[in-house]
Amino acid sequence: MAKDRMRFETSVIHEGYDSKDMLGSLTPPIFQTSTYTFDSAEQGERRFAGEEDGYVYSRLKNPTVVALEERIAALENGERGLAFGSGMAAISAVLVALTKANDHILCSVGLYGCTFGLLQMMEEKYNITHDLSEMESEEAVRAAIKPETTCIYIETPINPTMKLIDLEMVSAIAKEKNIPVVVDNTFSSPYLQHPLELGCDVVVHSATKYIGGHGDVVAGLAVGTHEFLDEVASTTQKDIGGIIGPFDAWLLLRGLKTLPIRMDRHCDNAQHVFEKLRHHPLVKHVYFPNDEDHPDYSIFKKQMDQAGGMISFEIAGTKKDAQQFLNHLKFIKLAVSLGDAETLIQHPVSMTHAVVPEEDRAKMGITDELIRLSVGLEAWEDVWEDIAQALDKIS
Ligand SMILES: *Cc1c(COP(=O)(O)O)cnc(C)c1O
Repeated sequence: MAKDRMRFETSVIHEGYDSKDMLGSLTPPIFQTSTYTFDSAEQGERRFAGEEDGYVYSRLKNPTVVALEERIAALENGERGLAFGSGMAAISAVLVALTKANDHILCSVGLYGCTFGLLQMMEEKYNITHDLSEMESEEAVRAAIKPETTCIYIETPINPTMKLIDLEMVSAIAKEKNIPVVVDNTFSSPYLQHPLELGCDVVVHSATKYIGGHGDVVAGLAVGTHEFLDEVASTTQKDIGGIIGPFDAWLLLRGLKTLPIRMDRHCDNAQHVFEKLRHHPLVKHVYFPNDEDHPDYSIFKKQMDQAGGMISFEIAGTKKDAQQFLNHLKFIKLAVSLGDAETLIQHPVSMTHAVVPEEDRAKMGITDELIRLSVGLEAWEDVWEDIAQALDKIS
């Protein structure tokens, strides 16, 4: 199936699963089993030796999970996918596989809070250092790469300030120096941005967000070459063990079927809410990629199909005003996470990015008044009316 590629909207429904293999079951069965029986001692020996394909134990391989892994590989246009119990399990398995003691990781200037925490831990334990870079030009990227850099790790759009990094530019430089580029594609989902097609080497996702899409599962995914992901599968995934359960894999297979139509709606809703926010007198600054005044607008046009459903904005006021605004919302839910049907809103400085030291937060542009909004699938007019009435209530 993967050979002559189907269109994205078809792949999300069909890739990685053939009902003929499963007694005609239209949807993939949930293989709720920990282990698999061998027909004979000799077969068990062959399976363990890797001489015979087949299932041994569900931490190594599970048919429901395999369907998901093949589907995400097709959607990201990579050779192999791997599924994990969380986005952080995927990110840590990839970063640990790419580094050894005393190496250096070059990162984008904004990072998911727990990714930042992981990098700090790797530095404390193994002296694997990291630098945050704006990666705003070729010169800046070249200058930031050190002899001991073994990995470049990028989030774009950057959480929560929506800065963008030119993936084609960075990956061309990295290729010259043989340094793998890893991209956290969570904010865009595989529908809006295709890092592997731009020359990057590995894509990671928190599938908890747009891929699951319904706020009911925590999971992660990674996609890349057979060579690299075989290594991850047989080392950091197998032996650290952050695998996904079969039911969660099934929920993601189900969520993926509607990814394109959900994303179209998220994007459309967010565009409307952005237009309203940017003209509101109590809103200082709005961060959204599809904004002609956005400093990275040209990267947006080149690299993303649409701007996504995430908006950040600064309230013209203090931290107290920002918190007051949040407390006055009616149906919009005050919660971290993103990409759900429900519009979610949070306060990065006191929530998702509270672990990031103040100095780094300042570099990332995370101020006390910054609010992050994940625009859901509701009628955008209702979302806007809720925001507008809560803004009216701050003094
Ligand atoms: C949520 C998130 C993660 C972590 O994923 P989990 O599924 O919560 O472990 C990583 N990166 C980004 C950009 C995220 O939004």
